[in-house]
Amino acid sequence: MSALLEVSGVSKSFDGFKAIDNLSFSIGEVELRAVIGPNGAGKTTFMDLVTGKTRPDSGTIRYGSLSRSLTGMSEARIAQAGIGRKFQKPTVFEDQTVVENLVMALKSPRNPFSVLIRRPPQRDRAATLAEQIGLDDALDRRAGELSHGQKQWLEIGMLLAQEPRVLLVDEPAAGMTTAEREKTTQMLVDAARTRAVVVIEHDMDFVRRLNCRVTVLHEGCVLAEGPLDHVCADPRVIDVYLGR
Ligand code: ADP
Repeated sequence: MSALLEVSGVSKSFDGFKAIDNLSFSIGEVELRAVIGPNGAGKTTFMDLVTGKTRPDSGTIRYGSLSRSLTGMSEARIAQAGIGRKFQKPTVFEDQTVVENLVMALKSPRNPFSVLIRRPPQRDRAATLAEQIGLDDALDRRAGELSHGQKQWLEIGMLLAQEPRVLLVDEPAAGMTTAEREKTTQMLVDAARTRAVVVIEHDMDFVRRLNCRVTVLHEGCVLAEGPLDHVCADPRVIDVYLGR
């Protein structure tokens, strides 16, 4: 499988402290990956580097079949190239309805040529997206009235409206009920059928349900990688993360 996103030997220091230390990571075009690791391991900085929020000191980040270099590209250009990011806290337009939020996201396509593609009317596409995120019976509800979990799903829907090729999601299950977590798992698994999805998560039950390859970060580099049971049996992972 060819890599869609390839991070090679990337380092990043803050005031002399190496937050990311010669990190290499790659993900295929259609893949779900969980990234775990103790606090301060560099998970957020890793996402910041991929999305262009932070510039690496050294190393390369390549993306797409043409192996474009993302290093040095602006955050906006990287998003436009198809890398979407969901922060931990949901950011939706609270005064707008679910369908209005989704239509807004559909109206700002990352690909400027997508307006030339013949597509169903936006409300129909918004309704299809709402179905994907389990909010089809809440189309005309104000986003501000939704539960925390529903707001998270709405934001995932808004990101999917942009048709990203890589979706980075930071702790989606935090603050969710058990039922909401299950629904979120399914949503991410479904999203990863047609794109690369990287999920940072602390909740090991949630990671287990994702049933995917896991990358363990520690001190800014990859400590272990593989199926969850494999990395959980690694004495180094037990020592720095699981055993605490
Ligand atoms: P994680 O998300 O795994 O908890 P982070 O990527 O947030 O880890 O942080 C990794 C390390 O880098 C931490 O020690 C953190 O304090 C440091 N760090 C991250 N961003 C900055 C910054 N902007 N300035 C200084 N230190 C930072």
